[in-house]
Amino acid sequence: MPLLETRGLNKHFGGLHVTADVNLALDEGEIHCLIGPNGAGKSTLFRLILGEYSPSSGHIVFADEDITALKPFQRIRRGMSVKFQVPGIFKALSVRQNLEIAMQHSYPPATLGREIDELLQFLKLTAEAGQLAGNLSHGQKQWLEIGMAISLKPRLLLLDEPTAGMSPEETHATGDMVKSLNAQGVTVLAVEHDMNFVRQVAQRVTVLHLGRVFAQGTIDEIVADERIAAIYLGQAHA
Ligand code: ADP
Ligand code: MG
Repeated sequence: MPLLETRGLNKHFGGLHVTADVNLALDEGEIHCLIGPNGAGKSTLFRLILGEYSPSSGHIVFADEDITALKPFQRIRRGMSVKFQVPGIFKALSVRQNLEIAMQHSYPPATLGREIDELLQFLKLTAEAGQLAGNLSHGQKQWLEIGMAISLKPRLLLLDEPTAGMSPEETHATGDMVKSLNAQGVTVLAVEHDMNFVRQVAQRVTVLHLGRVFAQGTIDEIVADERIAAIYLGQAHA
């Protein structure tokens, strides 16, 4: 039984068919990457899965429950978490304060400090705990954002372009973080353009094109598929 399933999912914006009959099934425990040219509908699919958009038709099933009508906070309570493309950290607060805000209602005061320390270590931000989040490097901001997304120990983590703008070293370290989370039992769905990252982490890859599932397979199968190379022609991210 999949942890997450979209069944015949459609989303229209006016005359624009942005999500077109998407059937996607994620197994519990897998790392699944979603790729596709700009405008393919990847972020929209994330917003549908999280409940920020309601589908025009179709269903979303999470842990054997139809969640299509649930609000985002209800989905988060059931174990979903997301890191969107645009960082949503509080720049005028310290790194530690950002994590405190994300975690203070979920851990008793007696253990909150220790939980935050552990998370800071995982994020390689221990030395930056007292710095203003706005002063972090670009890559460190992304890590803090990932930290806020995983602070409530989700069952399913959605990452929208987690390595955008990162150096190759930061990208690789992010891949290690994702694999380590996965080893702790977190199922991951990640939108990514960086094929090195996809190769590092993905067990399966889905290609979205014009809102539809265009192909699905291992990274080797996807890279070898000439039809997929063709849809990227002329795109900024090849
Ligand atoms: P991707 O993340 O793959 O680059 P998006 O999901 O952001 O693609 O966008 C897919 C298409 O849907 C684009 O053509 C975009 O302009 C359109 N779109 C996304 N959100 C909206 C919206 N709220 N209203 C109208 N069109 C939208
Ligand atoms: Mg996007």
